[in-house]
Amino acid sequence: FLPHLVAAMEEVEETYVMVKPDGVQRGLVGEIISRFEKKGFLLKGLKLFQCSKELAEEHYKDLKGKTFFPKLIDYITSGPVVCMAWEGVGVVASARKLIGATNPLQAEPGTIRGDLSVQMGRNVVHGSDSPENGKREIALWFKEGEICSWVPVQAPWLRE
Ligand code: UDP
Ligand code: MG
Repeated sequence: FLPHLVAAMEEVEETYVMVKPDGVQRGLVGEIISRFEKKGFLLKGLKLFQCSKELAEEHYKDLKGKTFFPKLIDYITSGPVVCMAWEGVGVVASARKLIGATNPLQAEPGTIRGDLSVQMGRNVVHGSDSPENGKREIALWFKEGEICSWVPVQAPWLRE
């Protein structure tokens, strides 16, 4: 095991990123995965998945009661999504920055939502909002055995 990786161990976080059904339908899967991959985060889980209403409601349980909640559940269950688990130091906040503001019209150019979408109800991608929710959402969307721990050959070229 590489010493510099051990040193960084305690700062390592996980986040759940998901290409929403509109991103899959519009052929943006490769583009979206690529942004996290190029940044240098570690991909630990990846699958195409059609989720149930129950799973969508559990994932977005904090938003239950909002006026847009029923439409949000219809949106997320309307077709397959791409589920991803990413690991890295500071990955939760950094992924949110790469994704951009919830409203794509307010999202900065250069962000995924800023570059690739125009409406909140079709904002192509999800990212966990805290390390706790990162863990919760990865456990919710992935089964045991679907998450891989591995050390990429480029590791010493990403962190000193
Ligand atoms: N959403 C919506 N209308 C709103 C707020 C949110 O349709 O007024 C949708 C949007 O797709 C958003 C998702 O609900 O991505 C979850 O909302 P949240 O506030 O958690 O935004 P996010 O964390 O995805 O930026
Ligand atoms: Mg959120």
